Amino acid sequence: MDLGLQDKVAVVTGGSSGVGLATARLFLAEGAAVAICGRDEARLAAAKASLMGNTASSQLLAVPCDVLDKAAVDRFKDAVEQWQGRCDILVNNAGQARMSTFADTTDDAWREELELKFFSQIYPVRAFKPLLDKSKAASILAVNSLLAYQPEPYMVATAAARAGAQSLVKSLAREFAPYIRVNSVLLGLIDSGQWERRFVVREDKSQTREEWFAEVARSRHIPMERLGTSEEVARAIAFLSSPAAGFITGAQLEISGGTSRHI
Ligand code: NDP
Repeated sequence: MDLGLQDKVAVVTGGSSGVGLATARLFLAEGAAVAICGRDEARLAAAKASLMGNTASSQLLAVPCDVLDKAAVDRFKDAVEQWQGRCDILVNNAGQARMSTFADTTDDAWREELELKFFSQIYPVRAFKPLLDKSKAASILAVNSLLAYQPEPYMVATAAARAGAQSLVKSLAREFAPYIRVNSVLLGLIDSGQWERRFVVREDKSQTREEWFAEVARSRHIPMERLGTSEEVARAIAFLSSPAAGFITGAQLEISGGTSRHI
């Protein structure tokens, strides 16, 4: 199936690791030009180097940017505009989770979490909307979590913020139709940079990578008995963002290995 991504311009926030990096790689392979951002400049440079492979340097742009810094997001948009003059696809992927119960979430932690989950969508959407408005195949894809519908007790603040962000995405889909499609993916546990970092600081250092990840999958009761991969998520993002999904907007696709229990 031709996704129709050839010569499209895609922006992926948090494109220097995990899901974002795999998505950028797939967009490039499909013939799109891709701009990525991240905060850590060394990680961003390493991602850029790993993406270059067979890619012409003109197809890839990497800009240091914290998506919670409005001025930096505007500068990222300016850089994309100067580079390609347009943007067809915005993937709002940057972010991370916070493990906490209600008892151990401070007021400041609540504010940080709400700010991250909302403004990682709001600032990029505001900045890139004028460019998306000019595209004939515009789409926004929000990377969200299954927690939005199915909270877990050890992720109270993240789950609440995810539910609110999902409501925002649904509202955007209505408000921006028919010109910009807005969809989301709801991730379960994905073996990405986040989980690699948790593995590195695991309590029982005698556990191998395979053993540790198998234990995570068992303890979280994932029916597919494993975590997902960033590449599996990237394929869903590429489809929903592409002209091939032209009649799909306001939709959310679960990528959780069957973890979802709601109907
Ligand atoms: P990674 O940690 O591997 O990648 C996160 C990326 O986001 C990095 O490039 C990171 O770069 C960037 N990032 C984080 N915060 C910011 C910021 N404020 N501004 C700009 N870039 C930022 O994680 P994943 O690939 O797993 O996560 C991708 C998305 O999926 C995240 O939003 C995450 O919350 C969500 N998710 C992941 C799940 C999982 O199991 N992996 C489950 C549910 C949701 P840098 O740190 O240098 O800024």
